[in-house]
Amino acid sequence: MLTLQCPYCGVWAEETELHAEGEAHLKRFGPGSSDDQFEGYLFMRENPKGVHFERWRHSNGCGKFFHAARCTTTLQVFGTYSAQTLEPPQEIKDKISETYPGWSWREFS
Ligand SMILES: [Zn+2]
Repeated sequence: MLTLQCPYCGVWAEETELHAEGEAHLKRFGPGSSDDQFEGYLFMRENPKGVHFERWRHSNGCGKFFHAARCTTTLQVFGTYSAQTLEPPQEIKDKISETYPGWSWREFS
């Protein structure tokens, strides 16, 4: 079972206490965007075999949204962090790079 630590209240919660909210770091498009941009925002998602960034909600706890970085093949969790950031903290990126040499952060679109 996947266990994540809520970065706000510090509680270690099993995934049944949380709610998966999909991919993290989506670039949002709204009014004024092209049809292709809006379609991509609504429907196109990463589905990587490896490092993935996800949005979670501590639904049976403090209720706040946060992000988690984990590997989809090993379920290794590299860390959780505030959903109010545009990219993961450097310490999480360093942990990922230790496990996957050559991995680098990229802007999501
Ligand atoms: Zn919490």
